[in-house]
Amino acid sequence: MMKDKVVVVTGASRGIGRAIASKMAAAGAKVVVSARSTEALESLVDEVRKQGGEAVSVPTDISKSSDVEALFDAAINAFGRVDVLVNNAGITRDNLLVRMKDADWDAVLDTNLKGAFLCTRAAAKIMGKQRVGRIINISSVVGEMGNAGQSNYCASKAGLIGLTKSVARELAKRNVTVNAVTPGFIVTDMTDTLSEKVKDSLLGQIPLGRFGEAEDIVSAVMFLASDQAAYITGQVLGVNGGMYM
Ligand code: NAP
Repeated sequence: MMKDKVVVVTGASRGIGRAIASKMAAAGAKVVVSARSTEALESLVDEVRKQGGEAVSVPTDISKSSDVEALFDAAINAFGRVDVLVNNAGITRDNLLVRMKDADWDAVLDTNLKGAFLCTRAAAKIMGKQRVGRIINISSVVGEMGNAGQSNYCASKAGLIGLTKSVARELAKRNVTVNAVTPGFIVTDMTDTLSEKVKDSLLGQIPLGRFGEAEDIVSAVMFLASDQAAYITGQVLGVNGGMYM
């Protein structure tokens, strides 16, 4: 399905991003994997190559413009084009609003929103020339419904939805689609740190009665990247077990 498509995944060193990159490679895509941790990326590239796939790793801090330029230069040097960008890298720095430090606000907005802007701008230039492309932004259910203690994170994820819809309108004439996926509570390192009490209370809000797995998000991303999703743009696909409807 993804045979020979070139896919750039940010935040591919672990969690959801790693699962997306692995599945894309298994489906025949050439993957460009980026994150800050070099070793984890190298191990992913080794795994993909052992399975007969093609991958390159580009250590990147997506909040830095020069790193993002180098990421897309490397993708073009390695594979000559970019068909799919998955803006997945993200961080949390949770605190109640009145206790939130400027640095925690800035770090989250710089990574989750500015990082996606920088990658989207770089990809748009390439995809615009190709006259085809797919951009998939990993937002969050809390960007839609809000969450006490996560005002910085929720603002970044709601901002990502605004970015998705605006860029979808700008790039449609070039046959580039832009969509967002909003995961609910997915079991990864990011959610591992929550207390059992918080996890129990979250579980009570999920009609399907379970937390999500990275694979649940992978399936949505694979669909939006596929030919079957050619007529879908500017949309927000909730993958949250019914937590928000
Ligand atoms: P994770 O396990 O913490 O992984 C986050 C990834 O982002 C890592 O690969 C990390 O790599 C990378 N990253 C962080 N800062 C970066 C930076 N400045 N530059 C480049 N890469 C950076 O998180 P996850 O749970 O897989 O989450 C993936 C995405 O899904 C995030 O956008 C998150 O907000 C979203 N999401 C997750 C959940 C959930 O329940 N898990 C729910 C809703 C939305 P390095 O540390 O190596 O840089």
